[in-house]
Amino acid sequence: MVERNRRLSKHHILGDFLVDDTFPDLAKRLVPDEVQLANLERLALVIERIAEQFPAQWKVLSGYRDPVLNEACRQAGLPASLDSLHLDGCAADIEPHGGEFDLETVYEWVRDTSRIDLEVHEAVFYPLKGFIHIGVENKKRPTAKRILMRT
Ligand SMILES: [Zn+2]
Repeated sequence: MVERNRRLSKHHILGDFLVDDTFPDLAKRLVPDEVQLANLERLALVIERIAEQFPAQWKVLSGYRDPVLNEACRQAGLPASLDSLHLDGCAADIEPHGGEFDLETVYEWVRDTSRIDLEVHEAVFYPLKGFIHIGVENKKRPTAKRILMRT
């Protein structure tokens, strides 16, 4: 049983991270375990920092993915890798609604602040799609830090 109303941060509840517009039925079946929940909490705090800096309604397009959902995304040609941090609850694709700023500015702030005190391990900016993939480190499954812009 998943408590989707569980609050992860000021602006987000767990249910916000268990979504997928392309595969809503698979998203309904998502059941993160305790480790993945703890990762989602760390991730939500990073997103909260971004929301404080860039006020908007930050919608999660894709958060935690189990292997079934991740594979469905891959088959559909969506940006999803086999070792995606989404599988650990460590990554989310976020899109601002109603903010008065350029998304590139957000990306640059995340990149620069990750060198100071923002615990971001992945930030991939998709300007054409209008979202940013944000990831925190999974110390149990080390991956290379990547902060970059994609088309
Ligand atoms: Zn992503």
